Amino acid sequence: MISANPRVQCKKCGRPATVRIRYAKLNLCSEHFTEYIEERVAKTIERYKMHSDLKKLLIGVSGGKDSMSLLYILSKLKSRYNIEIVCLHIDLGLNNYSEESKSIIIEASRELGIPCLIISLKDLIGYTLPELVEKSKRPPCSLCGMLKRYVLNLVGLEIGADAIALGHHLDDILSFALKDFLLQDLVDFSKMTPITPGIPGVAAKRIKPLYEVYESDLELYAKLKNIRVVGANCPFKYRDPITTSARKMLDELEEYAPGFKISLSRKLARNASRYVQGESIILCKYCGMPSSNGICGFCKLTMKVMGEPKGREAREKIRKLVDSSSFSN
Ligand SMILES: [Zn+2]
Ligand SMILES: [Zn+2]
Repeated sequence: MISANPRVQCKKCGRPATVRIRYAKLNLCSEHFTEYIEERVAKTIERYKMHSDLKKLLIGVSGGKDSMSLLYILSKLKSRYNIEIVCLHIDLGLNNYSEESKSIIIEASRELGIPCLIISLKDLIGYTLPELVEKSKRPPCSLCGMLKRYVLNLVGLEIGADAIALGHHLDDILSFALKDFLLQDLVDFSKMTPITPGIPGVAAKRIKPLYEVYESDLELYAKLKNIRVVGANCPFKYRDPITTSARKMLDELEEYAPGFKISLSRKLARNASRYVQGESIILCKYCGMPSSNGICGFCKLTMKVMGEPKGREAREKIRKLVDSSSFSN
């Protein structure tokens, strides 16, 4: 897809096109392709009004192509929407994988002039992710997701972020939504919206600026922009069979009708939250953060592994870290 075809011209500048975008029926050169993706993100931000009341935005970055591309795209758009961006990386202690991620993120945040906070899970609670998996006997991906959400939310609250930007792209969102639907997990399904509203003092608002961006486009964007991303595979990389077949089905439908995924995502954005009315949020009795039944996932896990809930202590540590860093309030 990246070799220039001299017979096909870029719609914007007439130079040989390097990319054919089927869903938009567009041929573009590399430069206009990357600009097109940045504008897709800008349009998504505006379509769902993600920029309203947004002054300070926290981005969680893992070092993978999705979050690194998001960081580059948003740092390009930040002056248009007058937002201040800060980023957070959680070092999960996955040896080479984490070391490589950290160096990539430090380099990128310097290049982009974006303050970056790195929090090590080991420093925060005394264990790395592999140690927690071993001790708790819980599946690594759900553990990793829960820990990242918890820490990201705490940092968002401590720095007074108006929102947290997540790196989920179109293909992720639709395959998760379809999986939730197949399992009739309607509470999770209802969260597959472009914006999850926050609760003052308890949960930061979350936005998904890549809601209408295909994974393959992000991959190409990162390649064409020479964005350094972590090369090693996550040692726990795993995709469950339901998400895998949901993804396959969505890919087939997209092949048959280019643009299918985008129109589905817009319907999902309108309808997903209607499936659950008035879901009650109960605050965790140990740390005061959101939970479904009175004890949050983080306190439940630390209680199991360490014998006592560590939510409050983690928040205290994060508060000190934020106070001593360059992006405190
Ligand atoms: Zn062009
Ligand atoms: Zn808790």
